[in-house]
Amino acid sequence: MIHPYMEQATLRNYINGNWVNGEKFTDVMNPATSEKIVEVPLSSEREVKEAVEAAKLAQKEWALVPAPQRAEVLYKVGQLMKERKEKIATLLTLENGKVLEEARGEVQEGIDMAFYMAGEGRRLCGQTVNAELKDKFAMSVRAPIGVVGIITPWNFPIAIATWKSFPAIIAGNAVIWKPATETPLMATELGKIFEEAGLPKGVINIVYGAGEEVGEAMVQHKDIQVISFTGSNKIGSHIASECGRQLKKVSLELGGKNAVIVMDDADLELAVEGIIWSAFGTSGQRCTACSRVIVHEDVKEALEEKLLANMKKLTIGNGLEKDVKVGPIINQDGLEKIASYIEIGKKEGATLLAGGHRLTEAPYHRGYYFAPTLFTNVTSEMRIAQEEIFGPVVSFIPVASFEEAITVNNRVAYGLSSAIFTNDVNRVFQAQRDLDTGIVYINAGTTGAEIHLPFGGTKGTGNGHRDSGVQALDVFTEWKAIYVDYSGKLQRAQIDVD
Ligand code: NAP
Repeated sequence: MIHPYMEQATLRNYINGNWVNGEKFTDVMNPATSEKIVEVPLSSEREVKEAVEAAKLAQKEWALVPAPQRAEVLYKVGQLMKERKEKIATLLTLENGKVLEEARGEVQEGIDMAFYMAGEGRRLCGQTVNAELKDKFAMSVRAPIGVVGIITPWNFPIAIATWKSFPAIIAGNAVIWKPATETPLMATELGKIFEEAGLPKGVINIVYGAGEEVGEAMVQHKDIQVISFTGSNKIGSHIASECGRQLKKVSLELGGKNAVIVMDDADLELAVEGIIWSAFGTSGQRCTACSRVIVHEDVKEALEEKLLANMKKLTIGNGLEKDVKVGPIINQDGLEKIASYIEIGKKEGATLLAGGHRLTEAPYHRGYYFAPTLFTNVTSEMRIAQEEIFGPVVSFIPVASFEEAITVNNRVAYGLSSAIFTNDVNRVFQAQRDLDTGIVYINAGTTGAEIHLPFGGTKGTGNGHRDSGVQALDVFTEWKAIYVDYSGKLQRAQIDVD
């Protein structure tokens, strides 16, 4: 037994309220130890079709359940997640590697999202407005869309699923969910919770399998009317073009190249804490991870010194062990990608101040560990300052002024998160206006989103939609305008004006 919380050796799909055996499987490994923890089905188009047929029938009924009653199920889901928080967090660390403290935080995000979206059951607000004509009433309401497909990544396997599935469900849709193959345990845990909370059969369906098989079948299925995707730009842009061809609604949350700006008047101790947490937390495998520090040249050396001293204190290891702050990288491919960027950075002329290598000696030899890494004297055109590395690698880019810092921050293809450390109130307000990202932090690192605010980015980070926050409802609802004429005669808008 890998861990007492691991209850099954083989996972099953959840279709129409039944846990269905798979035919082909792949192994899921613990990135901290390379041990097999479970096997997960590799489903095909057939299972996607079955799930869609079940979802279509279930959605018709579910949409007619009053939203406050739908909310009762989500309250129950939140309650069950709360009761099982430690178990879910532990399984999350086992499959994803993130340290237990962060895993608990991720599960808490899901709990918060359940209660928040359950509250929406009593709102789902539309508008009433004045009509142009006499004896006429005008309003807009949110209508469910139908069957929605959600495709999630491995780095936040439960939080992102709740950001998508809870608003979809409260709004009266049915869901087909394809979790990342690397991290399937969270889907089984959430599926069991939905079942116990009394969600009607077929309203949520979980289909495991490879992205190019199951994900692709979802994108191509004509009865899945929305795709909500979080993942890489490569897959996201492919999905966008396939959905575009079919005129299918698609919401994309993609990569980031997030920066912390440190001005000459900043509290450097605080800035270092913010950088440590947002650059090396989750081993840099967050879409909001800080991978650039845009530092005023007057404080560059002092900041480097303090950061290096703090990096030395980081404890690296298995996320289930007490006091470990930096866990493993998800897999061998992830490690290789990070290592390739170290070579790219060196060739580009950046100075490597710390790390830059894989950790291979005991106790790290079985897992996928990479040393926290700091490059300095990086310029904003270098590839290490432009491309998403997705690992514990941070680059110092010196600048001479506030204006230059803002320009450098915005000179990347992505626009997810940015942060500035300064004590100048004028700069604070200029920065929140001029930083071209969907999320801006003042005197904090680039991570730490709260679920009742919109989450997402500008430019290459997505296509204008947002996860979480009330804005997530826009992805899973259609706006319907309703006119009620109680004049007893035919009035023609824009024509019968007197
Ligand atoms: P990924 O490789 O794009 O995979 C994401 C999901 O897409 C997985 O479930 C994957 O399935 C599936 N997929 C792969 N090919 C597909 C296809 N042809 N059609 C449909 N689905 C397909 O991304 P990842 O490596 O899991 O996640 C890391 C990326 O996500 C980073 O770029 C990160 O910045 C981004 N991210 C963004 C946000 C945000 O909110 N902006 C949040 C978190 C992460 P398999 O697992 O089977 O391959």
